[in-house]
Amino acid sequence: AADPDDPSSRASGGAVPRAAELFGRVLGGAPDAVFSAPGRVNLIGEHTDYNQGLVLPFAIDARAQVAVRARDDGRLRVVSGQQPGETVEVNLDGLEPGAVTGWAGYVAGAAWALAERGHRAAGADLALDSTVPVGAGLSSSAAVECSTALALATLAGDRLAPEELARVAQLDENRFVGVPCGLMDQMASSASRAGTVLFFDVGADRTEHIPFDPATAGLVTLLVDTRAHHSLADGQYARRRATCEAAAETLGVDSLSRIAPGELDAALAGLGDDETRRRVRHVVTENERVRAVVELLRTGAVRDIGPAMVASHASLRDDFEVSCAELDVAVDAALAAGAAGARMTGGGFGGSVIALVDRDRVDEVGAAVTGAFARAGFTAPVLRLVSPADGAGADG
Ligand code: ADP
Ligand code: MG
Repeated sequence: AADPDDPSSRASGGAVPRAAELFGRVLGGAPDAVFSAPGRVNLIGEHTDYNQGLVLPFAIDARAQVAVRARDDGRLRVVSGQQPGETVEVNLDGLEPGAVTGWAGYVAGAAWALAERGHRAAGADLALDSTVPVGAGLSSSAAVECSTALALATLAGDRLAPEELARVAQLDENRFVGVPCGLMDQMASSASRAGTVLFFDVGADRTEHIPFDPATAGLVTLLVDTRAHHSLADGQYARRRATCEAAAETLGVDSLSRIAPGELDAALAGLGDDETRRRVRHVVTENERVRAVVELLRTGAVRDIGPAMVASHASLRDDFEVSCAELDVAVDAALAAGAAGARMTGGGFGGSVIALVDRDRVDEVGAAVTGAFARAGFTAPVLRLVSPADGAGADG
């Protein structure tokens, strides 16, 4: 099962999903087509998407793959390689949020969300197999939503633009599954391109693919999956959102991203409590850091983004308060061992750290992080190198 506590269920570098094989073995016969969508890391721009701000994610080479075959009875039949022994059947006619819970809700919700946004979604047999580890902050959920929605739409003869696919996937997660996430994960999974980071300005509804090739600077991006997943994550996420929305209302702006850096002090002076001031300061300064990183990447100065990554982590730890001991230990150990930059990536309270490391120091940095985890009594982290991959698409 896709259990964060089971090392055998974690993605390992180079693993490939085998949805067509699963399809034949469990559902019988051959699929009509196979699609996939990736997990993602966020280089910088955390907790800014639901504030209509700036994010800079990229897709990674861990993917959810879906093998699919049309049915003419309006039903979905779904299996997952990460949920062995379970076959879930759903009638699409009259399907409403709440009707399917658990992992299959992400899949059924894709059909529901397609219909809700005016697309076609026919019945199908569907086998899902994913190498994106669950709960590692790499958005296994968006990978499932995007691959499934793409498969069902294509089967029904609809072609969705990447942004529309992302919006369908987000609607699935927000309304069918019931998680109040922003649009970053789904956009990254849907619209990413190999060799680039996705600069997404949520408020302006604008995307740009910025070349990102650390190798040109002798660097690699090391991902540290802390294996920690603290249960307070969901409630705290909703609370941060609510605080940000309330602060925007107090300040008379439609989102915190409307506040320019030069207006920050005046905005903070207009807020009543220190906690809210720190939350607002994070969002405004984080947008600014994304802007700065984009400008550096445009000039090819990859190594120089390190300090912005470090500042982002400090802001998430001290002002937004979404880090945790495992994330802080991983960042501190990586930096102490010579990483050019390191920060938590994803929503926080566990999940992963992304570090920018000299290629010839990567073993040293990895060993330093692993050693620091052992000394702290944490579960051993999982290390892997990542580089920007393509977003959702047809496989083969
Ligand atoms: P993440 O940070 O990995 O996106 P979430 O809690 O948002 O974590 O989503 C994880 C959930 O998505 C799982 O608990 C499961 O319900 C669903 N999921 C992800 N991958 C799979 C898979 N391969 N098979 C079935 N369900 C999956
Ligand atoms: Mg998720």
